[in-house]
Amino acid sequence: MEVQICRACLGTSPAMINIFDNAPGLGISIADMITQCTPYEISKEDCFPENICDSCLHCARSAFEIRQTIETSHQIYLQMRNTKNLPVNLNDGVGFSKTKKTVHMSPLLKVVFPE
Ligand SMILES: [Zn+2]
Repeated sequence: MEVQICRACLGTSPAMINIFDNAPGLGISIADMITQCTPYEISKEDCFPENICDSCLHCARSAFEIRQTIETSHQIYLQMRNTKNLPVNLNDGVGFSKTKKTVHMSPLLKVVFPE
């Protein structure tokens, strides 16, 4: 059987996942996820390894999720600064997902934007 090398860490693992498959539960390919979080564009035409190990997939997913969380929070900050209004769903936080810890931000935002 052909040895598969991880695109991210150059390591080998018995559990490799193709980077052009969708990241479980995210609706985006692993390649697009990595491309959004790094300065490196991944395409099938580059002829580099097309697999990623479990450990690197976990790291890539975390990087993608915190990037999205920071982007969402930044938009909320901008919206609040521009309108001085609290978004309706702010008390729900902008946490990673319903399965992870929700970050309650209202007290923090009151500090950042005192009335
Ligand atoms: Zn790896």
